[in-house]
Amino acid sequence: MAQILEGAPVREAIERELKPRVERLVAAHRAPGLAVIQVGNNPASEIYVRNKVKACHALGIYSEKLTPPEDVSTEELLEMVGTLNRRPEIDGILVQLPLPAQVDAKKVLLAVDPDKDVDGLHPLNLGKLLSGRPGPRPCTPAGILELLRRHGIPLLGRQAVVVGRSELVGKPVALLLLAEHATVTMCHSRTTNLPEVCRQADLLVAAIGRPAFVTADFIKPGATVIDVGTNRLTSREQAAAVFRNSPEKLAEFDRKGSLLVGDVNPIDVAAKAGAYTPVPGGVGLLTIAMLMVNTVEAAEWRLGACCA
Ligand code: NAP
Repeated sequence: MAQILEGAPVREAIERELKPRVERLVAAHRAPGLAVIQVGNNPASEIYVRNKVKACHALGIYSEKLTPPEDVSTEELLEMVGTLNRRPEIDGILVQLPLPAQVDAKKVLLAVDPDKDVDGLHPLNLGKLLSGRPGPRPCTPAGILELLRRHGIPLLGRQAVVVGRSELVGKPVALLLLAEHATVTMCHSRTTNLPEVCRQADLLVAAIGRPAFVTADFIKPGATVIDVGTNRLTSREQAAAVFRNSPEKLAEFDRKGSLLVGDVNPIDVAAKAGAYTPVPGGVGLLTIAMLMVNTVEAAEWRLGACCA
């Protein structure tokens, strides 16, 4: 039986450890503060932002939501970010993506003060990751490393294959694995013989954005498989094919009108891997927890309490 690398206990442990740190900051100075900018009414963004605000509330972190309209300009957003950069009680600024087409998203993200960049995606902080200096790490990749560490998955000397080379997931996760002394291979849409390369992996990370793309053919028996993908299946035929006509899954599809699936085929991975993250319930649960870690750390650094 493959080990299921559940995200929930890892998230709970991270939050449990954060609480006294928040309490120390409150006692000595003030609560850490996070500002989230959510443009327009994208339903997915609304859910993400709501969950982030909820997580702040549960930990005693001050949070603030700014909701400029869908037709906001780049200049207006730059102004908003500039104001947040200057406000001393705000430690973290998060610009929820995607931004509307008329906005120069890169320019807006670049304007965030790197010390308040709790997403860890500012080029300066990506540079710190590359050069092994301390700084906020991108949340989803950092969550993957926490999940591996806390489930006791060894990385030193292991062959790791990362499929996907985005700045958000693939590249940072590869750098973090490299820092843990894994031997890392990165794959992408132009990689030839992808299943063969993936079959070399003791640790396979799939961050592709294609439902159930990684099948049994990609997985070395006993490997650890990390599924970052979050894809929604809205066709019953596709759901039936991925879940091989599982009556429970099809009933769930009929009830909800859709099913969540990762980038890894859920049935193949359970049969062939030694350990794997489920979707939902795996990596996805850790992204917000790591945002909370980055916010508390930003507050500790800014208030000079990092070494207390
Ligand atoms: P992305 O920016 O679209 O990048 C996808 C990567 O996959 C690209 O590097 C692309 O290669 C590669 N790729 C696409 N098709 C491929 C193929 N046929 N063979 C090999 N590689 C292929 O996506 P992302 O932002 O990294 O996200 C990846 C997935 O993770 C998505 O499902 C997303 O929803 C999910 N995600 C989840 C969380 C979470 O908290 N759970 C957070 C972030 C993302 P090229 O570079 O060659 O185009």
